[in-house]
Amino acid sequence: MKPTTTENDELIELESRYSAHNYHPLDIVLTRGEGVWVFDVDGKRYMDCLAAYSAVNQGHNHPRIVRALHEQSQNLSLTSRAFRNDRFGPFCAKLAKLSGYDKVLMMNTGAEAVETAIKAARKWGYTVKGIPAERAEILVYDGNFHGRTTTIVGFSTDDPCREGFGPFAPGFRVLPYGDLEATRAAMSPNVAAILVEPIQGEGGVILPPQDFLPGLRALCDEHRALLICDEIQSGLGRTGAIFAHRQAGIRADAVTIGKALSGGVYPVSAFLADDAVMDVFQPGQHGSTYGGNPIACAVAEAALDVLQDENLYERSLDLGGWFQGELRKLESPHVKEIRGAGLWIGVELHDEAGGARKFCEALMRRGILCKETHTHTIRFAPPLIIDREDLAWALTEIAAVLA
Ligand SMILES: *Cc1c(COP(=O)(O)O)cnc(C)c1O
Repeated sequence: MKPTTTENDELIELESRYSAHNYHPLDIVLTRGEGVWVFDVDGKRYMDCLAAYSAVNQGHNHPRIVRALHEQSQNLSLTSRAFRNDRFGPFCAKLAKLSGYDKVLMMNTGAEAVETAIKAARKWGYTVKGIPAERAEILVYDGNFHGRTTTIVGFSTDDPCREGFGPFAPGFRVLPYGDLEATRAAMSPNVAAILVEPIQGEGGVILPPQDFLPGLRALCDEHRALLICDEIQSGLGRTGAIFAHRQAGIRADAVTIGKALSGGVYPVSAFLADDAVMDVFQPGQHGSTYGGNPIACAVAEAALDVLQDENLYERSLDLGGWFQGELRKLESPHVKEIRGAGLWIGVELHDEAGGARKFCEALMRRGILCKETHTHTIRFAPPLIIDREDLAWALTEIAAVLA
């Protein structure tokens, strides 16, 4: 561990004493962020290679997004949806046009967007597809991460996520990720939807076989089920496109987004679908007090503009391809596999390396923040505004740590 100051230690002590212990953070306390950099209370600078699980794709404190927050907060912050606000309609129109879906339903957190998708799929299953009451099934995959609510953890395969939190909602069936044949065998008239991450982020940056997503698309067409892609982490630039599933050459029937939708400035999420799905919702059947509030709309509008105006999709593709190539050239005895899409890279270590956490701690001492996923994988996902020079610096540090 690095030597810490009294202030650093005191802040950690307060957190440990007064906050629930529902996370296991690295022992630094950050106080400021700017672009790809964050600063701790001792003034030490770190490159953020996690970017808040891709919420900060646009970089910390992006001036345009912060300005939107600042200006809107001085005008109107919250009306609830009992009344209309002048930011809501224009923002929904912008997001619908940009994403290519008829309508959007705005929520706040990723888990809420996924809950929205589950409700929409079931209601569509009963009212449009004609599934018998209470029989709708949603197919999901092992290694999934869709959020932390009780319904969602009920179909997680990560035991600590679910143990002790049951009884869980029925109506979900977990299949092996990437397994098209298992999915084909599970299709039935009662299947309302397949809910899938195009690339599993929390699962360790797991890319499915190339024919998987197109295969799911074909199965959903054949059996009249909805293909719903959870793009909360993979979407909005991380893999080099607005949606990762588009890179597989398909179009999902519905999509969940969050995280980078607000550039890390404010919680904003959304469920996107065409009229045939979205029109199942009638007034009173779904909502959220803060969902679609004026600040959320202003912030998300700026966040989407930044992705486009700063060419962050292309940047992720170009720099990500280069960075992955350079990582593959490192001759490290610890590395088992390098996976990735754009600037979203998982470096899986051999079991003998003793887990990824100690490598993350070593990187932290050298000024790079990243987080292990699933014990043996280091995930690199810096803000997409990063430049080649900063990435090259990170590479030399990573090379030293993995040597
Ligand atoms: C982060 C994440 C969620 C949950 O988002 P929260 O805002 O933490 O509720 C859901 N799905 C995926 C794929 C995620 O990465």
